[in-house]
Amino acid sequence: MQNLSHLLNNIPSSPTLAVNDKAKALQRAGHDVIALAGGDPDFPTPPHIVEAAYRAMLDGATHYPAPMIGIPAALEAIAAKMERENGVVVADPRRQIIITPGGKWGLFLALTAVLNPGDEVLILEPHWVSYPPMVTLAGGVPVPVSLPADDNFRITAAALRARLTPRTKALMVNNPCNPTGRVLTPEELAAVVAVATEADLYVIADEIYEKLVFDGRSHLSIAAAPGMAERTLTVNGLTKSYAMTGWRLGWLVGPAPIIKLATRLNSQAVSCAATFSMHACVAALNGPQDVIAEMRDAYQARRDFMVQALNEIEGIACRSIEGAFYLFPSFTGSGKNSLELADALLDKAQIAGVPGIAFGQSGEGHVRFAISTAMHDLERAVERLAKVAREL
Ligand code: PMP
Ligand code: GLU
Repeated sequence: MQNLSHLLNNIPSSPTLAVNDKAKALQRAGHDVIALAGGDPDFPTPPHIVEAAYRAMLDGATHYPAPMIGIPAALEAIAAKMERENGVVVADPRRQIIITPGGKWGLFLALTAVLNPGDEVLILEPHWVSYPPMVTLAGGVPVPVSLPADDNFRITAAALRARLTPRTKALMVNNPCNPTGRVLTPEELAAVVAVATEADLYVIADEIYEKLVFDGRSHLSIAAAPGMAERTLTVNGLTKSYAMTGWRLGWLVGPAPIIKLATRLNSQAVSCAATFSMHACVAALNGPQDVIAEMRDAYQARRDFMVQALNEIEGIACRSIEGAFYLFPSFTGSGKNSLELADALLDKAQIAGVPGIAFGQSGEGHVRFAISTAMHDLERAVERLAKVAREL
């Protein structure tokens, strides 16, 4: 037999999805595993969204959409949302938006549309697990920009400039950030804008956790900053905000020439997102938004509980988070690396978390816990952690 793809042999599988699958398999086999692995809201999709999709399916929305990039009502709902909530004017929705099967595919399209072989992409570290492999798959070279935990993972122009080379083509910014829970401040936005402008970079703004910002903070969209719309590709979607991970509905918004290339890859690779999910998108974006605030408030209450409870356990230190739904505690003085820690947690406490190393070298010593998990499971997890912390 001939050999298989070198490219894919050198790409790891998504560790978040792998840990998630493992935890779910153990649960199915009867083990009392608490899954704090993949970020999947424990809330049901709001019923008015499910009903809209169901009605659309009965009305025939079970075929290819027209146009393939997204039904006009959904493109218009996304454009209106961007203007209303993000301060971004999308002058021509049909040429500047593409609806994607989840935010993940939007990120991949964005990278593929701008990169040529060997182009470098700055990735703020700790970073979401899929950023470096996506850059590699798109022919680019991931370049980590390490943000120190003891400076609260703050983004500075100096840190970005230190990693620039003549090959730097783009910068990925996840705001709010998975796994650190940081939310971009005006100063950090200014740093991103300054460096992107002076080095002529494309910015891939991953705003999938946009709605999950706590304590009354506001979300800042990079594309809304003066001069940035022409170089920013915004990725967002319904998955996290509306508890719709299984619907696979996201979008990519940006300058028309880039979206044109993204559409070309989409047409050859996946054709389109699911038509009924596009109808669900219209109902989600144009319908009542109070459901989002209810879920956000629940995550915030879980954060408050968990951060306090974890910090009371000797050997665990946990920063509070400003957004998204992940805690990233460090296991101070355990002597184990994060892979060993995650294994020990599963083995001794039956808690599934994602090892910090999956988020880059600066994630070492940490384990990520998703708090998109019901409060009673979080309470049980804390009890178990308190019992085993000494043995870690
Ligand atoms: N970006 C980040 C940072 C994420 O954590 C996720 C997680 N799913 C995504 C994008 C993509 O999500 P999805 O494809 O499910 O919309
Ligand atoms: N984004 C979520 C996470 O980081 C879901 C899993 C995935 O897509 O990686 O856990």
